[in-house]
Amino acid sequence: MADKLPFLPFALPDIGDDEIAEVVDTLKSGWVTTGPKTRRFEEDFTAFLGDASLQSLAVNSATAGLHLALEALGIGPGDEVITTTHTFTATAEVVRYLGADVKLVDIDPATLCIDVKAVEAAITPRTKAVMPVHYAGLSADMVSLLALAKKHGLKVVEDAAHALPTTCGGRLIGTLDSDITVFSFYANKTITTGEGGMVVTRDVELAKRMKVMRLHGMSRDAFDRFTAKVPSWYYEIVAPGFKYNLTDIASAMGIHQLKRARAFQDRREQIARMFDEGLAGLPVVTPPRAPDGETHAWHLYVVRLGDEAAVSRDAFIERLFAAGIGCSVHYIPLHLQPYWRDRYGLKPEDFPHSQRAYERMASLPLYTRMTEADVRRVLSAVRAALDA
Ligand SMILES: *Cc1c(COP(=O)(O)O)cnc(C)c1O
Repeated sequence: MADKLPFLPFALPDIGDDEIAEVVDTLKSGWVTTGPKTRRFEEDFTAFLGDASLQSLAVNSATAGLHLALEALGIGPGDEVITTTHTFTATAEVVRYLGADVKLVDIDPATLCIDVKAVEAAITPRTKAVMPVHYAGLSADMVSLLALAKKHGLKVVEDAAHALPTTCGGRLIGTLDSDITVFSFYANKTITTGEGGMVVTRDVELAKRMKVMRLHGMSRDAFDRFTAKVPSWYYEIVAPGFKYNLTDIASAMGIHQLKRARAFQDRREQIARMFDEGLAGLPVVTPPRAPDGETHAWHLYVVRLGDEAAVSRDAFIERLFAAGIGCSVHYIPLHLQPYWRDRYGLKPEDFPHSQRAYERMASLPLYTRMTEADVRRVLSAVRAALDA
């Protein structure tokens, strides 16, 4: 019976008629690269965060945004940046772009986010910054982390690729007291522009540097030049910058995706609750909930097989696939990836919590377009897969 149903993918974007109409409008407008729609998306993003002292800078990926952030903070050769081993390689690779070194640390097994005590233990005189990841959409322990960073004079760049919208202490991620926060609009994230990201900061000088470096190190961006009322062919190159601007085609999608971000979060939360209820009593550890009153973005729904589960993680995923259910693993920890392992001589026993979580974890499908029947189908496939 199951094989008659179409394959249920692990993730699907939710793109509505408004996004499509806005993209068409952009295509017909004659201005397809960074321009008025990108400016509007940036303004809307700041308004969404609800803090007019913030600047939002659109970029063509979160990876680009993280790179701009560390560059603006002056990270370079000889510096160390601490981050979690339990993340996507993008978080760490940007440190290497700048010739600095990455110090990977373990996670707190209760939240799967960076362990602040491990961060403290990893600080050396060379440490310049720390990059927490709000894993799966649950805030890292930012209260402790920001206090620790302050004590040691470290910069904080939040990898908020999963965290729109997420709160910490009732404040949205993006509005905390870190230096820079970076969101992702990759295809499977909570809102999408296909590829894209947003960099958020309150620091005027950092924003200025990132704007210049986002577009070739030009002292004025293309939109300013082409829309200025005065002759505007003149520009100055003040640094060897990058090509990290977001197109108006992408921003057209983003404007409408952002309007739906709250409704998307509601729907993701409903599905997460259905999973929690349906998995109760089974030999799986359900993902941590946000503390009362806080928002979890529910980018991912990550289960961990319990000790009593008779099936291995790999066999579990294979069985779900055979039942037509897409699954993934977030993440193969960086300490197991050849580049990071070999460069820093890392061993699994140095990261026991991440290692253990990795060996037992699987991410179930979770996206707004899933129906209740889809959720029930995933749950019955999980039950069958555990019934070894
Ligand atoms: C998706 C993701 C990124 C990279 O985002 P892009 O927009 O694809 O560059 C970085 N960090 C984490 C944790 C992610 O999940």
